Order: sequence, then structure tokens, then C-alpha cells
Amino acid sequence: MSVTPNTPETRPVSELVGTSTGAAWLARYSNSLMGVFGTPQRVLVRGQGCYVWDADGKQYLDLLGGIAVNALGHAHPFVTSVISSQLATLGHVSNFFTSPTQVALAEKLLEIAHAPSGSKVFFANSGTEANEAAFKLARRNNDGGRRTKIVALEGAFHGRTMGALALTAKKAYREPFAPLPEGVVHIPFGDLDALKAEIDETTQALFLEPIQGEAGVIPLPAGYLAEARRLTHEAGALLIMDEVQTGVGRTGSWFAIEGSGVVPDAMSLAKGLGGGFPIGALITFGAENSALLTAGQHGTTFGGNPVATAAALATLHTIETQGVLANVRAVGEHLRAGLSALPEVVAVRGSGLLIGFDLALPAGVPEGANFAAAVVDAGLSAGFIVNAPGPRTLRLAPPLILTAEQADTFLAALPQLIAAAAAAITDKLEKEGA
Ligand code: PLP
Repeated sequence: MSVTPNTPETRPVSELVGTSTGAAWLARYSNSLMGVFGTPQRVLVRGQGCYVWDADGKQYLDLLGGIAVNALGHAHPFVTSVISSQLATLGHVSNFFTSPTQVALAEKLLEIAHAPSGSKVFFANSGTEANEAAFKLARRNNDGGRRTKIVALEGAFHGRTMGALALTAKKAYREPFAPLPEGVVHIPFGDLDALKAEIDETTQALFLEPIQGEAGVIPLPAGYLAEARRLTHEAGALLIMDEVQTGVGRTGSWFAIEGSGVVPDAMSLAKGLGGGFPIGALITFGAENSALLTAGQHGTTFGGNPVATAAALATLHTIETQGVLANVRAVGEHLRAGLSALPEVVAVRGSGLLIGFDLALPAGVPEGANFAAAVVDAGLSAGFIVNAPGPRTLRLAPPLILTAEQADTFLAALPQLIAAAAAAITDKLEKEGA
């Protein structure tokens, strides 16, 4: 193999890494990668539209989309061509400079967010970084030191860096890393009395996800968001919406809060924004909020780089011009109706193509079993990628271009996947008992 710098011809990446079986890659993975993700389910080598292929040539319908990231599926031709041409023109500049794609993307985000004049954008590389910026923004709303408290909800997931982790509720994620940044209070999900009790003149900000994705696709109760806006406004606290998972068309509108009448003080984005390319963003609404972080108070080397912002511009352009939001609404509705009609499914939640559903426990499967994880395994064997955020909950966050026909193949297969998962668990129990 020889890789000559600046050779004009394109070369497949397999020339750099070679080809191998899934099992061989996984053995090398466990020898070389940190164990934070456990063992990967498969080794994926290629994607096209809503499908991916593993190292052994097996095809999967991707109903998870890289966890709500691959908004336009895999290898989207327009996104790919824009990324390639930007990279071939100007791949990176430091933030001592700007670039046309960075400016154009900021303007586009302010337009689709209906942000009032004086609103601004900060670019990062991920959801946790967008929330880290939001955390620092909140800290600047300090009223000469009188405000020190930040409020978040039980069940919340805002990321894994130390500030975002302080906002994240799950003990298993937090406790190994104590002490976390102080001052964050978690209140019971959807409880307006608890909200009223905590939002006061010492509160810097309230962080909310419109739909808690990692908790199992749990939407805020009706009326909660409007009341949260009223209370934060009255108390002088910021309302910061985390739309990292729900934003950029995922729920069938540009943002999940669209149409609610609520204008937040800030909103974080990532996941689908780059159509698979890493990028995060924090939008600050209005001049006052946008002035909270001043020159030198925050920064990043890669954030807002020309390629990431070009990828996001191509993604937003495609969503806007190709009827993608209408597709999300129609196929999402179709999937939810199909799931609700199955006797094996006891609850269906979510909006657009962010869907969570709970499974009935089949006879013979014990209460404590991670039944949903067994359905994920059965799905992989049958060529479907889905995710289990809870022991009886499955989540779908497919590419926004999923067709009704593709959705139907999953709906038709699901009863068999559930039966196969139940059989796998009961067989295992029998063997262990034997
Ligand atoms: N916020 C929400 C609502 C998320 O769902 C996630 C990721 O799942 C994050 C923040 C963190 O994003 P990232 O993994 O890009 O850091």
C-alpha cells in the first residue's frame, strides 16, 4: 500500500485499514479501544440511504440513525458532495478567522428558529459541548452573585462532560465523577409544584428537553413548557431548551418547541444538524442573552469549522427543499399507528420520527429481565437496528427520509422479533436451571 500526499485520484479507505471479518475487527477493538461503550453490536462498513452493511456483508434497516444523527440517511449525495468540495477548498481555519459557511449557517439557524433581532449562535462539535456553552451562559446570569442555582429535571440527559454531566440526572453516570460543578438541583419530571418551588430569584437557569430521549422518549406534559416560560421569565431565570435530540426536523418541525408559542433564552442543537458530520450549536435569543458571554469567555478550536458548517448547511437545505419535514410527520404517524395496533406494544410515545414504545412482558419472561435488549438482539439477527433505552422500552430515531414501505417491513417483523427475544430468554433460563 502506498498513500502519496496530494494524489489526485480517490482511493477507498479500505486501502488504509484493510478488510477483515466482523469477529476479527471486534477482537482488535477490545485490544485497542477503551471499554466505555461495552462490546459494539456489529462492525459497520458501509451505508446507503436508510441501510447499513456490516463487515460480513449483512444488510440492516437503520431505525436508529446513529441515535438521531443521520438525518438524511447514509452517504447522502448532496451532503457528501458539499462536504467533499468544502474540504477540497478550505478544510479548517482557526477562530481567529471566519468563513462563509460559518456565517451562512448562523444566519440560517437564526432564521429557522424565528430568533428575534440581536440573537446569536455559538458553534461547538457535539451536544455535550453545546450544553457546556449553555451552562457557562447560565452562570453569567448571576445578578452580582445572588443567583447560583440551576434547575434540571429528573430523567434528564444533557451530556457527559463535567458541566453537562452536572445537568444530567442519572446517578450511575454522575456518581463516579463527584464532585461535579455545584448548584444544580434536579426536580421531579413534569411536576409543576416542584418547578414553582425551585424557580426563584436565586435561579440562573432552567434546562429542559422538550422530549426526554434517553429516558425513553418522554414528552413534557401539556402546559408544562408554557408554565416553565412564565415562571422563569418572572424570576429572571433563563429558559434553556436542549433540542440536541429533538431539533433539526426530528419531530416533524424544525424544532420540537415550534408552534408552542414559547421563545426560550437559549437552545442547544447537535445530532442531526450535520447530517452525520459532528457539529453542535447554541442559539441565544435576543441581544441581552447574547451578550452574557463576552470575548474570551468561551471558545473552541474546531467549533464552526468550514466543513462542519458546510455539512449542516447542506443538511438544512435538503430538509427544507425536499419535503423532508412532511415525510417525518407522515411516516412517524404511520409508524405510531402501526405500533399502537400491535397487542405486544402497551404504550407508544413521541413525535415525528422520535418514537418510544413499551413492550408487554411475554409469559415466561421474568419481571427483572432486560427484555428490550433481547428484542434489539433479535432485530440485529433479522436485519433491523433499534435501541433499548429501558428494559421494556424501544426507541426508533431513523433517518428522516425513511419511507412508509421501509417502516412496514419493521412493523411486519416486530411480533416475530418479540417472540424470538422471549424464546431466547426462556431458553437461557431453562439451560441455567438445568
Ligand atoms: N442532550 C441530549 C438531549 C441528548 O440526547 C444528548 C445525546 O444523546 C446530548 C445532549 C449529548 O450529546 P453528545 O452525545 O453529542 O455529546
